[in-house]
Amino acid sequence: MGGINGTAVASLREALRGPVVGPQDPGYDEARSIYNAMIDRRPAVFAQCTDVADVQATLSVARDTGAELAVRGGGHSGPGLSLVDDGLVLDLTPMRWVRVDPEAKIVQVGGGSELGDVDHASHAFGLAVPSGIMSTTGVGGLTLGGGHGHLTRKYGLTIDSLLSADVVLADGSFVTASAKNHPDLFWALRGGGGNFGVVTSFTFRLHPAHTVGVAVTVWPVDRTPEVLRWYREFLPAAPEDLSGFFAVLAVPPGPPFPESIHGQKMCAVVWCYTGDLEGDRLEQVLAVVNEPAPPAFHFTTPMPYPGLQTMFDELIPKGLQWYWRGDFFDSISDAAVDVHSRYGEGLPTGLSTMHLYPVDGAAHRVGADDTAWAYRDAVWSGVIGGVDPDPLNAELIRQWCVDYWADLHPHSMGGSYVNFIGEQESADRVRATYRGHYDRLASVKHAYDPDNLFRANQNIPPATV
Ligand code: FAD
Repeated sequence: MGGINGTAVASLREALRGPVVGPQDPGYDEARSIYNAMIDRRPAVFAQCTDVADVQATLSVARDTGAELAVRGGGHSGPGLSLVDDGLVLDLTPMRWVRVDPEAKIVQVGGGSELGDVDHASHAFGLAVPSGIMSTTGVGGLTLGGGHGHLTRKYGLTIDSLLSADVVLADGSFVTASAKNHPDLFWALRGGGGNFGVVTSFTFRLHPAHTVGVAVTVWPVDRTPEVLRWYREFLPAAPEDLSGFFAVLAVPPGPPFPESIHGQKMCAVVWCYTGDLEGDRLEQVLAVVNEPAPPAFHFTTPMPYPGLQTMFDELIPKGLQWYWRGDFFDSISDAAVDVHSRYGEGLPTGLSTMHLYPVDGAAHRVGADDTAWAYRDAVWSGVIGGVDPDPLNAELIRQWCVDYWADLHPHSMGGSYVNFIGEQESADRVRATYRGHYDRLASVKHAYDPDNLFRANQNIPPATV
Protein backbone atom coordinates (compact mmCIF):
# COMPACT_ATOMS: atom_id res chain seq x y z
CA MET A 1 0.00 0.00 0.00
CA GLY A 2 1.33 3.42 -0.99
CA GLY A 3 1.18 6.68 0.87
CA ILE A 4 1.52 10.43 0.65
CA ASN A 5 5.07 11.78 0.69
CA GLY A 6 6.53 15.26 0.18
CA THR A 7 6.61 14.84 -3.59
CA ALA A 8 2.92 13.97 -3.72
CA VAL A 9 2.02 16.96 -1.53
CA ALA A 10 4.15 19.22 -3.73
CA SER A 11 2.39 18.03 -6.87
CA LEU A 12 -0.99 18.65 -5.24
CA ARG A 13 0.08 22.18 -4.30
CA GLU A 14 1.20 22.81 -7.86
CA ALA A 15 -1.93 21.44 -9.50
CA LEU A 16 -4.71 22.75 -7.27
CA ARG A 17 -6.33 26.15 -7.08
CA GLY A 18 -7.76 25.27 -3.66
CA PRO A 19 -5.70 25.00 -0.44
CA VAL A 20 -3.66 21.89 0.31
CA VAL A 21 -3.55 21.42 4.08
CA GLY A 22 -1.16 19.13 5.96
CA PRO A 23 -0.50 18.58 9.69
CA GLN A 24 1.94 21.54 9.82
CA ASP A 25 -0.50 23.98 8.25
CA PRO A 26 -2.92 26.29 10.02
CA GLY A 27 -6.42 24.96 9.41
CA TYR A 28 -5.42 21.29 9.74
CA ASP A 29 -7.36 20.71 12.97
CA GLU A 30 -10.35 22.56 11.58
CA ALA A 31 -10.21 20.45 8.41
CA ARG A 32 -10.17 17.19 10.37
CA SER A 33 -12.98 18.16 12.73
CA ILE A 34 -16.22 16.59 11.58
CA TYR A 35 -19.74 16.46 12.97
CA ASN A 36 -19.21 13.37 15.14
CA ALA A 37 -16.53 14.18 17.74
CA MET A 38 -16.19 10.47 18.56
CA ILE A 39 -14.14 10.20 15.36
CA ASP A 40 -10.54 11.37 15.75
CA ARG A 41 -8.50 10.66 12.61
CA ARG A 42 -5.32 12.29 11.27
CA PRO A 43 -5.16 12.31 7.47
CA ALA A 44 -1.81 13.01 5.81
CA VAL A 45 -3.23 15.80 3.67
CA PHE A 46 -6.45 17.58 2.67
CA ALA A 47 -6.90 18.60 -0.97
CA GLN A 48 -9.55 21.30 -0.73
CA CYS A 49 -11.02 21.30 -4.21
CA THR A 50 -12.60 24.36 -5.77
CA ASP A 51 -13.63 22.88 -9.11
CA VAL A 52 -13.70 19.81 -11.36
CA ALA A 53 -10.06 20.33 -12.39
CA ASP A 54 -8.97 20.21 -8.72
CA VAL A 55 -10.94 16.99 -8.23
CA GLN A 56 -9.31 15.43 -11.30
CA ALA A 57 -5.82 16.44 -10.14
CA THR A 58 -6.45 15.02 -6.66
CA LEU A 59 -7.68 11.70 -8.02
CA SER A 60 -4.59 11.53 -10.23
CA VAL A 61 -2.36 11.81 -7.11
CA ALA A 62 -4.50 9.20 -5.31
CA ARG A 63 -4.08 6.76 -8.21
CA ASP A 64 -0.35 7.41 -8.61
CA THR A 65 0.50 7.07 -4.90
CA GLY A 66 -1.98 4.32 -3.99
CA ALA A 67 -2.80 6.36 -0.87
CA GLU A 68 -6.00 5.69 1.05
CA LEU A 69 -8.56 8.16 -0.25
CA ALA A 70 -11.62 9.65 1.43
CA VAL A 71 -14.11 12.09 -0.10
CA ARG A 72 -15.55 14.69 2.24
CA GLY A 73 -18.93 16.32 1.62
CA GLY A 74 -20.68 17.80 4.66
CA GLY A 75 -18.72 15.61 7.13
CA HIS A 76 -21.92 14.34 8.81
CA SER A 77 -21.48 10.61 8.39
CA GLY A 78 -21.84 8.83 11.75
CA PRO A 79 -18.86 6.51 11.25
CA GLY A 80 -16.74 9.41 9.92
CA LEU A 81 -16.40 8.13 6.37
CA SER A 82 -14.98 11.46 5.20
CA LEU A 83 -11.64 10.96 7.02
CA VAL A 84 -8.86 8.37 6.67
CA ASP A 85 -5.83 8.06 8.97
CA ASP A 86 -2.59 8.88 7.09
CA GLY A 87 -4.43 9.16 3.79
CA LEU A 88 -5.58 11.76 1.29
CA VAL A 89 -8.88 13.59 1.83
CA LEU A 90 -10.53 15.02 -1.27
CA ASP A 91 -12.36 17.80 0.53
CA LEU A 92 -15.32 19.29 -1.34
CA THR A 93 -16.13 21.97 1.25
CA PRO A 94 -14.99 24.85 -1.02
CA MET A 95 -17.59 23.71 -3.58
CA ARG A 96 -20.58 25.24 -1.77
CA TRP A 97 -22.71 27.01 -4.33
CA VAL A 98 -26.32 26.93 -5.47
CA ARG A 99 -27.98 28.18 -8.64
CA VAL A 100 -31.77 28.24 -8.79
CA ASP A 101 -33.62 28.42 -12.12
CA PRO A 102 -37.10 29.48 -10.97
CA GLU A 103 -38.56 29.30 -14.49
CA ALA A 104 -37.52 25.70 -15.06
CA LYS A 105 -37.99 24.88 -11.35
CA ILE A 106 -34.59 23.25 -11.09
CA VAL A 107 -31.60 23.90 -8.84
CA GLN A 108 -27.93 23.09 -9.39
CA VAL A 109 -25.92 22.45 -6.25
CA GLY A 110 -22.15 22.21 -5.74
CA GLY A 111 -20.94 18.83 -4.43
CA GLY A 112 -19.76 20.25 -1.07
CA SER A 113 -22.95 22.15 -0.22
CA GLU A 114 -25.03 21.75 2.91
CA LEU A 115 -28.80 21.29 2.95
CA GLY A 116 -29.25 24.80 4.37
CA ASP A 117 -27.55 26.30 1.30
CA VAL A 118 -30.21 24.76 -0.95
CA ASP A 119 -33.11 25.61 1.38
CA HIS A 120 -32.01 29.24 1.64
CA ALA A 121 -31.56 29.82 -2.08
CA SER A 122 -34.71 27.95 -3.13
CA HIS A 123 -36.95 29.51 -0.49
CA ALA A 124 -36.61 32.92 -2.16
CA PHE A 125 -38.77 31.44 -4.94
CA GLY A 126 -41.17 29.51 -2.68
CA LEU A 127 -39.53 26.25 -3.76
CA ALA A 128 -37.67 23.39 -2.06
CA VAL A 129 -35.90 20.08 -2.61
CA PRO A 130 -37.06 17.31 -0.23
CA SER A 131 -34.05 16.48 1.95
CA GLY A 132 -33.08 15.79 5.60
CA ILE A 133 -34.15 17.43 8.84
CA MET A 134 -30.97 19.38 9.70
CA SER A 135 -29.55 22.21 7.64
CA THR A 136 -25.90 21.38 8.34
CA THR A 137 -26.00 17.90 6.75
CA GLY A 138 -24.11 17.57 3.45
CA VAL A 139 -26.10 17.36 0.22
CA GLY A 140 -23.49 14.92 -1.14
CA GLY A 141 -23.65 12.06 1.34
CA LEU A 142 -27.36 12.48 2.04
CA THR A 143 -28.37 12.42 -1.63
CA LEU A 144 -26.11 9.54 -2.61
CA GLY A 145 -27.62 7.47 0.22
CA GLY A 146 -31.24 8.37 -0.71
CA GLY A 147 -32.26 11.26 1.52
CA HIS A 148 -35.44 11.42 3.61
CA GLY A 149 -37.03 14.14 5.72
CA HIS A 150 -40.16 16.21 6.36
CA LEU A 151 -41.19 16.38 2.68
CA THR A 152 -40.71 12.69 1.81
CA ARG A 153 -44.37 11.69 2.06
CA LYS A 154 -45.34 14.64 -0.12
CA TYR A 155 -42.52 14.72 -2.71
CA GLY A 156 -40.49 11.51 -2.27
CA LEU A 157 -36.87 10.86 -1.36
CA THR A 158 -34.15 13.35 -2.31
CA ILE A 159 -33.03 10.99 -5.10
CA ASP A 160 -36.55 11.05 -6.55
CA SER A 161 -35.97 14.73 -7.39
CA LEU A 162 -32.45 14.20 -8.77
CA LEU A 163 -32.35 14.97 -12.51
CA SER A 164 -28.63 14.61 -13.17
CA ALA A 165 -25.21 14.56 -11.51
CA ASP A 166 -21.81 15.74 -12.74
CA VAL A 167 -19.32 13.06 -11.75
CA VAL A 168 -15.54 12.71 -11.87
CA LEU A 169 -14.87 8.99 -12.21
CA ALA A 170 -12.01 6.96 -10.74
CA ASP A 171 -9.98 7.27 -13.97
CA GLY A 172 -10.35 11.07 -13.88
CA SER A 173 -12.86 11.34 -16.70
CA PHE A 174 -15.89 13.59 -16.32
CA VAL A 175 -19.47 12.54 -17.11
CA THR A 176 -22.95 13.87 -16.54
CA ALA A 177 -25.15 11.00 -15.41
CA SER A 178 -28.90 11.20 -16.02
CA ALA A 179 -31.78 8.99 -17.14
CA LYS A 180 -30.43 9.30 -20.71
CA ASN A 181 -26.67 9.54 -20.15
CA HIS A 182 -24.91 6.68 -18.33
CA PRO A 183 -28.27 5.41 -16.99
CA ASP A 184 -26.57 2.55 -15.11
CA LEU A 185 -24.41 5.03 -13.19
CA PHE A 186 -27.39 7.32 -12.59
CA TRP A 187 -29.33 4.35 -11.20
CA ALA A 188 -26.46 3.45 -8.84
CA LEU A 189 -25.89 7.02 -7.64
CA ARG A 190 -29.49 7.16 -6.40
CA GLY A 191 -28.93 5.25 -3.17
CA GLY A 192 -25.60 3.47 -3.74
CA GLY A 193 -23.58 5.96 -1.66
CA GLY A 194 -20.14 7.35 -2.51
CA ASN A 195 -18.97 4.22 -4.32
CA PHE A 196 -19.04 5.37 -7.92
CA GLY A 197 -17.24 8.70 -8.25
CA VAL A 198 -16.98 12.25 -6.95
CA VAL A 199 -20.16 14.18 -7.61
CA THR A 200 -19.15 17.77 -8.30
CA SER A 201 -22.68 19.01 -8.82
CA PHE A 202 -26.26 17.77 -8.44
CA THR A 203 -29.28 19.03 -10.42
CA PHE A 204 -32.63 18.66 -8.66
CA ARG A 205 -36.26 19.30 -9.55
CA LEU A 206 -37.81 21.89 -7.20
CA HIS A 207 -41.26 21.68 -5.61
CA PRO A 208 -43.57 24.29 -4.07
CA ALA A 209 -42.99 24.65 -0.30
CA HIS A 210 -42.97 28.07 1.30
CA THR A 211 -44.69 28.25 4.68
CA VAL A 212 -45.42 24.92 6.31
CA GLY A 213 -47.39 23.95 9.39
CA VAL A 214 -45.06 22.76 12.15
CA ALA A 215 -46.13 21.01 15.32
CA VAL A 216 -44.49 19.12 18.15
CA THR A 217 -46.48 16.85 20.45
CA VAL A 218 -44.91 15.22 23.50
CA TRP A 219 -46.44 12.61 25.80
CA PRO A 220 -44.95 11.18 29.02
CA VAL A 221 -42.67 8.28 28.13
CA ASP A 222 -44.83 5.80 30.06
CA ARG A 223 -47.57 6.41 27.47
CA THR A 224 -45.29 5.17 24.64
CA PRO A 225 -47.28 1.94 24.12
CA GLU A 226 -50.61 3.74 23.58
CA VAL A 227 -49.03 6.50 21.46
CA LEU A 228 -47.06 4.16 19.18
CA ARG A 229 -50.04 1.86 18.64
CA TRP A 230 -52.09 4.89 17.62
CA TYR A 231 -49.30 6.43 15.49
CA ARG A 232 -48.64 3.23 13.52
CA GLU A 233 -52.28 3.27 12.29
CA PHE A 234 -52.81 7.02 11.99
CA LEU A 235 -49.77 8.22 10.04
CA PRO A 236 -49.75 5.77 7.10
CA ALA A 237 -53.48 6.46 6.55
CA ALA A 238 -53.07 10.26 6.79
CA PRO A 239 -53.00 12.49 3.66
CA GLU A 240 -49.52 12.92 2.16
CA ASP A 241 -49.63 16.61 3.13
CA LEU A 242 -48.98 15.46 6.67
CA SER A 243 -45.73 13.94 7.86
CA GLY A 244 -44.66 13.24 11.41
CA PHE A 245 -41.64 11.42 12.71
CA PHE A 246 -41.94 9.56 15.99
CA ALA A 247 -39.22 9.95 18.65
CA VAL A 248 -38.26 8.98 22.15
CA LEU A 249 -36.34 11.85 23.72
CA ALA A 250 -35.74 14.07 26.72
CA VAL A 251 -37.48 17.44 26.43
CA PRO A 252 -34.95 20.13 25.38
CA PRO A 253 -34.33 22.75 28.07
CA GLY A 254 -35.70 25.78 26.25
CA PRO A 255 -38.66 27.34 24.44
CA PRO A 256 -41.26 26.48 23.31
CA PHE A 257 -41.34 23.81 26.02
CA PRO A 258 -42.54 24.88 29.50
CA GLU A 259 -39.84 24.67 32.18
CA SER A 260 -41.91 22.18 34.14
CA ILE A 261 -41.16 19.44 31.57
CA HIS A 262 -37.55 20.33 30.65
CA GLY A 263 -35.34 17.24 30.71
CA GLN A 264 -38.24 14.82 31.18
CA LYS A 265 -38.28 11.62 29.15
CA MET A 266 -41.08 11.67 26.61
CA CYS A 267 -42.28 10.13 23.40
CA ALA A 268 -43.02 12.66 20.69
CA VAL A 269 -44.09 13.33 17.13
CA VAL A 270 -42.57 16.21 15.13
CA TRP A 271 -45.14 17.15 12.48
CA CYS A 272 -44.86 18.96 9.15
CA TYR A 273 -48.01 19.92 7.21
CA THR A 274 -47.80 21.14 3.62
CA GLY A 275 -51.56 21.54 3.11
CA ASP A 276 -53.74 24.63 3.32
CA LEU A 277 -52.99 26.66 6.47
CA GLU A 278 -56.02 28.97 6.24
CA GLY A 279 -57.91 29.53 9.50
CA ASP A 280 -57.10 26.95 12.14
CA ARG A 281 -56.69 24.10 9.63
CA LEU A 282 -53.46 22.78 11.21
CA GLU A 283 -55.06 22.62 14.65
CA GLN A 284 -58.03 20.73 13.14
CA VAL A 285 -55.79 18.21 11.36
CA LEU A 286 -53.89 17.57 14.58
CA ALA A 287 -56.85 17.55 16.99
CA VAL A 288 -56.35 13.76 16.93
CA VAL A 289 -53.22 13.96 19.11
CA ASN A 290 -55.47 13.66 22.16
CA GLU A 291 -56.69 10.23 21.07
CA PRO A 292 -53.90 7.97 22.43
CA ALA A 293 -53.26 9.92 25.66
CA PRO A 294 -53.34 13.54 26.84
CA PRO A 295 -50.14 15.25 25.59
CA ALA A 296 -47.82 16.85 28.14
CA PHE A 297 -47.36 19.64 25.59
CA HIS A 298 -48.60 20.34 22.06
CA PHE A 299 -47.43 23.26 20.01
CA THR A 300 -48.41 24.31 16.46
CA THR A 301 -47.20 27.18 14.30
CA PRO A 302 -46.87 28.18 10.67
CA MET A 303 -43.19 28.49 9.78
CA PRO A 304 -41.09 29.28 6.69
CA TYR A 305 -39.73 25.95 5.46
CA PRO A 306 -36.06 26.89 6.19
CA GLY A 307 -37.17 27.66 9.78
CA LEU A 308 -38.26 24.05 10.20
CA GLN A 309 -35.05 22.84 8.57
CA THR A 310 -32.90 24.74 11.08
CA MET A 311 -35.04 23.98 14.15
CA PHE A 312 -32.65 21.33 15.52
CA ASP A 313 -29.32 22.92 14.48
CA GLU A 314 -28.59 24.57 17.84
CA LEU A 315 -29.84 21.65 19.89
CA ILE A 316 -27.37 19.21 18.33
CA PRO A 317 -24.39 21.23 17.07
CA LYS A 318 -21.18 19.81 15.60
CA GLY A 319 -18.76 18.36 18.17
CA LEU A 320 -20.93 15.93 20.16
CA GLN A 321 -20.24 12.22 20.66
CA TRP A 322 -22.49 10.09 18.41
CA TYR A 323 -23.09 6.41 18.01
CA TRP A 324 -25.96 5.27 15.79
CA ARG A 325 -27.59 2.27 14.14
CA GLY A 326 -30.70 1.88 11.99
CA ASP A 327 -33.20 -0.43 10.36
CA PHE A 328 -36.20 -0.21 8.03
CA PHE A 329 -39.72 -1.13 9.22
CA ASP A 330 -42.88 -1.93 7.28
CA SER A 331 -44.90 -2.19 10.49
CA ILE A 332 -44.47 -1.55 14.20
CA SER A 333 -45.33 -4.80 15.94
CA ASP A 334 -46.51 -5.00 19.55
CA ALA A 335 -43.14 -6.55 20.37
CA ALA A 336 -41.36 -3.55 18.80
CA VAL A 337 -43.61 -1.21 20.80
CA ASP A 338 -42.42 -2.93 23.98
CA VAL A 339 -38.75 -2.46 22.96
CA HIS A 340 -39.24 1.25 22.24
CA SER A 341 -41.04 1.69 25.51
CA ARG A 342 -38.31 -0.02 27.53
CA TYR A 343 -35.36 1.81 25.93
CA GLY A 344 -37.26 5.12 25.90
CA GLU A 345 -37.62 4.82 29.68
CA GLY A 346 -33.89 4.04 29.84
CA LEU A 347 -32.55 6.93 27.73
CA PRO A 348 -28.92 7.21 28.88
CA THR A 349 -28.35 10.95 28.27
CA GLY A 350 -30.36 14.09 27.55
CA LEU A 351 -29.63 14.14 23.81
CA SER A 352 -29.88 10.41 23.06
CA THR A 353 -32.88 9.59 20.95
CA MET A 354 -34.63 7.23 18.55
CA HIS A 355 -36.45 8.44 15.45
CA LEU A 356 -38.82 6.69 13.04
CA TYR A 357 -38.88 8.68 9.79
CA PRO A 358 -41.82 8.03 7.41
CA VAL A 359 -40.65 6.87 3.96
CA ASP A 360 -44.07 6.09 2.45
CA GLY A 361 -46.40 8.32 0.43
CA ALA A 362 -44.74 9.70 -2.71
CA ALA A 363 -41.62 7.59 -2.06
CA HIS A 364 -43.79 4.48 -2.59
CA ARG A 365 -44.86 5.58 -6.06
CA VAL A 366 -41.35 5.10 -7.51
CA GLY A 367 -40.76 1.59 -8.86
CA ALA A 368 -38.91 -0.87 -6.60
CA ASP A 369 -36.10 -1.29 -9.15
CA ASP A 370 -36.00 2.24 -10.60
CA THR A 371 -33.23 3.38 -8.24
CA ALA A 372 -30.60 1.65 -6.10
CA TRP A 373 -32.69 2.40 -2.96
CA ALA A 374 -33.90 -1.11 -2.14
CA TYR A 375 -36.68 -0.51 0.41
CA ARG A 376 -39.60 1.12 -1.44
CA ASP A 377 -41.82 -1.13 0.66
CA ALA A 378 -40.56 0.30 3.97
CA VAL A 379 -42.88 2.63 5.87
CA TRP A 380 -40.30 3.91 8.35
CA SER A 381 -36.53 4.36 8.39
CA GLY A 382 -35.50 4.07 12.02
CA VAL A 383 -32.36 5.35 13.70
CA ILE A 384 -31.19 4.94 17.28
CA GLY A 385 -28.70 7.64 18.26
CA GLY A 386 -26.68 7.67 21.45
CA VAL A 387 -25.62 11.33 21.77
CA ASP A 388 -23.75 13.30 24.46
CA PRO A 389 -21.20 16.13 24.71
CA ASP A 390 -18.96 14.25 27.16
CA PRO A 391 -16.38 11.79 25.72
CA LEU A 392 -16.49 10.01 29.10
CA ASN A 393 -20.04 8.92 28.18
CA ALA A 394 -18.99 7.45 24.83
CA GLU A 395 -19.20 3.86 26.01
CA LEU A 396 -22.50 4.44 27.83
CA ILE A 397 -24.25 5.79 24.72
CA ARG A 398 -22.67 3.17 22.45
CA GLN A 399 -23.85 0.31 24.63
CA TRP A 400 -27.40 1.69 24.95
CA CYS A 401 -27.58 2.02 21.17
CA VAL A 402 -26.19 -1.45 20.47
CA ASP A 403 -28.50 -3.12 23.02
CA TYR A 404 -31.59 -1.22 21.79
CA TRP A 405 -30.74 -2.13 18.19
CA ALA A 406 -30.14 -5.81 19.04
CA ASP A 407 -33.57 -6.07 20.69
CA LEU A 408 -35.37 -4.16 17.93
CA HIS A 409 -33.66 -5.64 14.89
CA PRO A 410 -35.67 -8.92 14.89
CA HIS A 411 -38.82 -6.80 14.39
CA SER A 412 -37.37 -4.90 11.40
CA MET A 413 -37.20 -5.64 7.66
CA GLY A 414 -33.55 -6.72 8.06
CA GLY A 415 -31.61 -3.84 6.51
CA SER A 416 -30.91 -0.21 7.32
CA TYR A 417 -30.78 3.06 5.41
CA VAL A 418 -27.14 3.11 4.25
CA ASN A 419 -26.58 6.46 5.95
CA PHE A 420 -27.61 4.99 9.31
CA ILE A 421 -25.06 2.18 9.34
CA GLY A 422 -22.81 2.82 12.32
CA GLU A 423 -19.16 2.24 13.05
CA GLN A 424 -18.02 -1.36 13.56
CA GLU A 425 -20.93 -2.83 11.62
CA SER A 426 -20.14 -5.65 9.22
CA ALA A 427 -20.16 -5.86 5.43
CA ASP A 428 -23.33 -7.97 5.82
CA ARG A 429 -25.14 -4.80 6.81
CA VAL A 430 -24.29 -3.22 3.44
CA ARG A 431 -25.66 -6.32 1.68
CA ALA A 432 -28.82 -6.09 3.81
CA THR A 433 -29.20 -2.42 2.81
CA TYR A 434 -29.21 -3.26 -0.88
CA ARG A 435 -31.00 -6.63 -0.82
CA GLY A 436 -31.73 -7.71 -4.43
CA HIS A 437 -29.91 -4.64 -5.81
CA TYR A 438 -26.53 -5.59 -4.40
CA ASP A 439 -25.23 -7.64 -7.34
CA ARG A 440 -26.29 -5.01 -9.87
CA LEU A 441 -24.50 -2.34 -7.81
CA ALA A 442 -21.35 -4.48 -7.70
CA SER A 443 -21.48 -4.74 -11.52
CA VAL A 444 -21.84 -0.98 -11.93
CA LYS A 445 -18.95 -0.58 -9.48
CA HIS A 446 -16.85 -2.88 -11.64
CA ALA A 447 -17.66 -0.78 -14.71
CA TYR A 448 -16.85 2.60 -13.12
CA ASP A 449 -14.35 1.86 -10.34
CA PRO A 450 -12.78 -1.56 -11.01
CA ASP A 451 -9.86 -0.95 -8.59
CA ASN A 452 -12.12 0.23 -5.75
CA LEU A 453 -10.42 3.62 -5.48
CA PHE A 454 -13.54 4.91 -3.69
CA ARG A 455 -13.63 2.60 -0.68
CA ALA A 456 -13.93 4.97 2.32
CA ASN A 457 -17.70 4.52 2.26
CA GLN A 458 -20.23 1.76 2.93
CA ASN A 459 -18.26 -0.19 0.42
CA ILE A 460 -19.59 -2.30 -2.42
CA PRO A 461 -16.51 -4.07 -3.82
CA PRO A 462 -16.46 -4.40 -7.63
CA ALA A 463 -17.98 -7.59 -8.99
CA THR A 464 -15.37 -10.06 -10.22
CA VAL A 465 -16.17 -10.96 -13.81
P1 FAD B 1 -19.75 12.97 4.67
O1 FAD B 1 -19.31 12.35 5.95
O2 FAD B 1 -18.98 14.11 4.14
O3 FAD B 1 -19.86 11.87 3.55
C1 FAD B 1 -20.58 10.67 3.73
C2 FAD B 1 -20.24 9.72 2.59
O4 FAD B 1 -20.69 10.28 1.35
C3 FAD B 1 -18.75 9.46 2.42
O5 FAD B 1 -18.56 8.13 2.00
C4 FAD B 1 -18.35 10.44 1.34
O6 FAD B 1 -17.23 9.99 0.63
C5 FAD B 1 -19.58 10.47 0.47
N1 FAD B 1 -19.76 11.75 -0.23
C6 FAD B 1 -20.17 12.93 0.32
N2 FAD B 1 -20.28 13.87 -0.64
C7 FAD B 1 -19.92 13.27 -1.81
C8 FAD B 1 -19.85 13.72 -3.16
N3 FAD B 1 -20.17 14.98 -3.50
N4 FAD B 1 -19.43 12.83 -4.11
C9 FAD B 1 -19.12 11.55 -3.77
N5 FAD B 1 -19.19 11.07 -2.51
C10 FAD B 1 -19.59 11.93 -1.53
N6 FAD B 1 -30.08 11.56 6.53
C11 FAD B 1 -31.30 11.68 5.94
O7 FAD B 1 -31.55 11.12 4.87
N7 FAD B 1 -32.27 12.43 6.51
C12 FAD B 1 -32.09 13.11 7.66
O8 FAD B 1 -32.99 13.78 8.13
C13 FAD B 1 -30.81 13.01 8.29
N8 FAD B 1 -30.57 13.68 9.44
C14 FAD B 1 -29.31 13.65 9.98
C15 FAD B 1 -29.07 14.42 11.12
C16 FAD B 1 -27.80 14.41 11.70
C17 FAD B 1 -27.55 15.23 12.92
C18 FAD B 1 -26.77 13.65 11.11
C19 FAD B 1 -25.42 13.63 11.74
C20 FAD B 1 -27.02 12.90 9.97
C21 FAD B 1 -28.29 12.88 9.40
N9 FAD B 1 -28.60 12.11 8.28
C22 FAD B 1 -29.83 12.21 7.68
C23 FAD B 1 -27.62 11.15 7.74
C24 FAD B 1 -26.86 11.77 6.61
O9 FAD B 1 -27.58 11.60 5.42
C25 FAD B 1 -25.50 11.06 6.48
O10 FAD B 1 -24.76 11.28 7.64
C26 FAD B 1 -24.73 11.51 5.24
O11 FAD B 1 -23.65 10.65 5.06
C27 FAD B 1 -24.22 12.93 5.37
O12 FAD B 1 -23.58 13.34 4.21
P2 FAD B 1 -22.33 14.32 4.30
O13 FAD B 1 -21.99 14.72 2.92
O14 FAD B 1 -22.61 15.39 5.30
O15 FAD B 1 -21.28 13.34 4.95
